[in-house]
Amino acid sequence: MNCELISVGTEILTGAILNTNARWLSEELSGMGINVRRQTSVGDNPERLEESLRAALSSADLVILTGGLGPTQDDLTKETTAKVFNRALQLHPEIEKELRAWFSARGYEMTENNLSQAMFPEGCTILPNPNGTAPGMLIESMDRWGCDKAVFLLPGPPGEMKAMFDAQVRPLLASRSGQSVVSHYYQLTGIGESAAEDALMDLVDGQTNPTIATYAKPDQVLVRVTASADTDADAERMLTEYDKIIHERLSDFIFTESRETLLETVGKDLIAGGLNFSAAESCTGGLVCAELAQIPGISASLKAGLVTYSNEMKEKLLGVSHETLERFGAVSPETAREMCENVRRITGTDIGVSVTGIAGPDGATADKPVGLVYTGICSGNGTKIVKNQFFGSRTAVQQRTVNKILQMVREELKYSKR
Ligand code: ATP
Ligand code: MG
Repeated sequence: MNCELISVGTEILTGAILNTNARWLSEELSGMGINVRRQTSVGDNPERLEESLRAALSSADLVILTGGLGPTQDDLTKETTAKVFNRALQLHPEIEKELRAWFSARGYEMTENNLSQAMFPEGCTILPNPNGTAPGMLIESMDRWGCDKAVFLLPGPPGEMKAMFDAQVRPLLASRSGQSVVSHYYQLTGIGESAAEDALMDLVDGQTNPTIATYAKPDQVLVRVTASADTDADAERMLTEYDKIIHERLSDFIFTESRETLLETVGKDLIAGGLNFSAAESCTGGLVCAELAQIPGISASLKAGLVTYSNEMKEKLLGVSHETLERFGAVSPETAREMCENVRRITGTDIGVSVTGIAGPDGATADKPVGLVYTGICSGNGTKIVKNQFFGSRTAVQQRTVNKILQMVREELKYSKR
């Protein structure tokens, strides 16, 4: 099955928003064994949208459009698609009823333009939208050569789009292909994409089924292996051998085989391990704690964070010795060591981490360049200090520092499990 994506919205073309829908859909579709051949972005303009849709339909079996489904003047996706398929728009009274109920439940007056959301091209399948007001739809056709085309119209807001795809589009596509497509995911950290690909080169080369692909994300590599077969069980069987090889070669780097991020994995492992955590941060200004605080339930583990930006506060609040700061400087392995050991002692936690470095762009000295960051971790197993040299903007250095701390916590958790 060949697929094209069309993202509708002038905001995408002006750069006001990033087209994350196309990226997300492409990743999901390729995981299902569907080739995405082209992505197009088009503004809220009916002529150009029509042109894009006709072009997509001339070569793809499946077209997925996102955006422009709402009730306002600039929302033209449904009207344009109906025109291309030569279908009239019909009022669906049951959707009109739901729409009126949605508005009255929220105490809003429903304006007449909202009625357009209850109009659908004849013969389409309506995809309910539990997270918004604009339903999606599936329009199918049989052309004169007998090959069928499927066009999905999905809402623009990413939360609504993803939920609709997962609940309704994915099962429809799976049942259509008649094939079972199963993907296994391996998420790695502490290894670059090219090194990961290199380790799997013999599998990557000459792949047909299963297929194997690597994707780089900041400080993370995703390896995806996809098999297609007559049944799920057959596909799973084909993946077993790959699973073994990937574990043999990369097990040190795999932090999860789910779709979770490193942050989510580490946060959940901290909670599951019943370990208390504290952080002493300098150049990240509290980012380590702020990120962990995104994990639901983290209060069971995260006890405290001390942001000690100045030397004075490193001494006063953390008890870093004056002599250490004078002799080695704030950005030094010695200071990082005292910071993590002291924060652990002061808070009485199982794990204490520390961060001290030069986020830039200013502040470098002859022997301490921008991006030099010492990260530390202290636990019952001892203290470990790592010297890092990061590159990039201030934000990039800070983010990479947080990721480094997450990696160190992950290693610590692995170690304490043994
Ligand atoms: P609404 O009912 O909210 O108007 P809609 O289906 O008409 O939904 P749009 O108006 O095109 O969708 O977009 C609504 C919002 O969804 C945009 O302002 C933007 O924040 C987000 N959005 C739309 N398209 C994309 C995209 N391709 N990638 C990421 N976000 C998007
Ligand atoms: Mg809209």
